[in-house]
Amino acid sequence: MKKKILVDLDYVICYPGFLKILNDFLGTDYKEEDFTEYIIDPIIGTQEKINEFYEYYLKHDGYKDAVLIDGAKETLEKLSKNYDIYICSACVMYGVERKSAKLFKDKFEYLMREFPFIDPEKIIFTNSKNIFKADVQIDDRLPNMLGDIKVKLLFDAYHNKNITEKELLDNNIIRVKNWKEIEAILLK
Ligand SMILES: [Mg+2]
Repeated sequence: MKKKILVDLDYVICYPGFLKILNDFLGTDYKEEDFTEYIIDPIIGTQEKINEFYEYYLKHDGYKDAVLIDGAKETLEKLSKNYDIYICSACVMYGVERKSAKLFKDKFEYLMREFPFIDPEKIIFTNSKNIFKADVQIDDRLPNMLGDIKVKLLFDAYHNKNITEKELLDNNIIRVKNWKEIEAILLK
């Protein structure tokens, strides 16, 4: 039986167009490296304005111009020969939870378009990532990595730089900087 890998989408496989759409909304020119936290809503202002942004965001397709992370596609394709790959991605947006359907659609269509080797029956859309059992998990957020998984790989991202070695060690997590490192760990 093949081993199971849970792979996150955003900031692991691709950079979605979230920040571009936010910049368009605000008339700004923020870059990912301007932030150290995952949730960047506070820069938008009041809760009312934040909700207004999410309504605006959901009128766009954040995956139309998503930027694939170097090596993600090639390595996933190689891994798919030895592992069962499950994409595990959150699709419910905070603040506009019940209006999030379009995000499910945009992510699903992106995955189908870009990754012909990914089985559509192995796509999991949930914000509750800690309920799964698998052999390997690749994600960029520590709060998503508290489940019963043997090998946990934290993908380096703008918002997780401040996580200490001790925190990683305590949670049995290895930080990986890129897909080459993932390949070296999982296909040795
Ligand atoms: Mg992510």
